Amino acid sequence: MLKKALEFKSKSTIEREQVRLLREMVCYASKNSPFYKNVLRKTKIKYSDIKSMQSLATLPLTKKEQLQKYNNSFYCVDKREIADIVATTGTTGEPVFIVLTKHDLQRLALNEVYSFSCAGATANDIFHLAVTVDNLFMAGIAYYLGIIELGAGVYRAGMHNIKRQILLLQKLKPTGIMTVPSFLLQLGKEIMEGGGNPLSLSVKKALLVGDSIRDQDFRLSGIGELLQKTWPLDLYSTFGNSEAAISYCECKFKHGGHEHSDLIITEIIDENGNVVPDGAMGELVLTTLQTRGMPLLRYCTGDITFKITKPCACGRNSSRIGPIMGRKAHMLKYRGTKVYPKAIENAIASIDGVYNYVIEAFTGDDLSDKVVIKVGSKKRSESFKRLLSAQIAARARVVPILKFASIGEVYSLQSDNGKNRKPKTFIDHRNATTK
Ligand SMILES: [Zn+2]
Repeated sequence: MLKKALEFKSKSTIEREQVRLLREMVCYASKNSPFYKNVLRKTKIKYSDIKSMQSLATLPLTKKEQLQKYNNSFYCVDKREIADIVATTGTTGEPVFIVLTKHDLQRLALNEVYSFSCAGATANDIFHLAVTVDNLFMAGIAYYLGIIELGAGVYRAGMHNIKRQILLLQKLKPTGIMTVPSFLLQLGKEIMEGGGNPLSLSVKKALLVGDSIRDQDFRLSGIGELLQKTWPLDLYSTFGNSEAAISYCECKFKHGGHEHSDLIITEIIDENGNVVPDGAMGELVLTTLQTRGMPLLRYCTGDITFKITKPCACGRNSSRIGPIMGRKAHMLKYRGTKVYPKAIENAIASIDGVYNYVIEAFTGDDLSDKVVIKVGSKKRSESFKRLLSAQIAARARVVPILKFASIGEVYSLQSDNGKNRKPKTFIDHRNATTK
């Protein structure tokens, strides 16, 4: 069934089918979404004008601020048709609520069938699902539904109680694990500290969401390397966007996350909104296909990455995206060049002795922002500080100001004393009045 998926078809077939689905999406949105009805009427674009992929660039971009401000105007269905409601984390302002119909949940499951298949999962697999499955998060239910739709097995381990998780791994003998890199690392460390060996477990592969385990050149990032040392598993990176209800996943060649072309169209744009050439860094822009509850046309995600259109050795001809290098709004100036906090995070996460950290940005001079990193660690010597500085400078090309803090102090900074739904590792003070 999956070999017939659009991403395995020729480039020209993919494009033809995407244009047809785009036309259908524009038609549907212009009839059912008050927001798009208004926008498309003003721009005088009709769905019948969509004749080729070049037509896509004639559609206006949708900004996150618009989605935050006019959230309800994006909905295309009334209450009777809503099956599930999820929310974005609200790390950049107001959370957005996304409504999904029963059809959208099926689309979400299909998307994960494609993603898990990219990572080589089959009906023979059982997955240990260590992600949040409640609190209005989309990812957890997406994986859960997708794994079942694929014909594989799953149990919802959640993200608490490491000791119980280890027990489940031993008792239920899963073949795969789906979680975030830092949790997998913590799990591996606990197993070893308890005298166990991750190698003796039945788990063979891990799908990882959240922080990327790869750098821009697809080599393992700091946390990726550390993970590989702790857990000798086959590691796959996946990336998801809740607003568009979509994910991208690496295949066994691990050279970018595959687009599931019948469900999404991928563009990368520069600061002026123009599409950039293949391989050039820019903002990820998504157009949903086959969505019913809340379709999005050219939605600017704020995530920075690049696109690869060359066919992949796995046989898929869909576009791929590189690792997410950071959020557009988080871009730091450093000696006149652009640096993303993610690069610093990737560097710092691989250093043994760092328990947790917070990166803070302050307004500096014209060439550089001021970057301060508070490191939660039991090691607090000057020599450890020098080692940290050297590692960050080598990997992220930034020499920040380092300060040691207690692990608890860093935790409360990350969670803003328990107010944040997700801990923040980057705090931007650049727009604050106190500089
Ligand atoms: Zn591939």
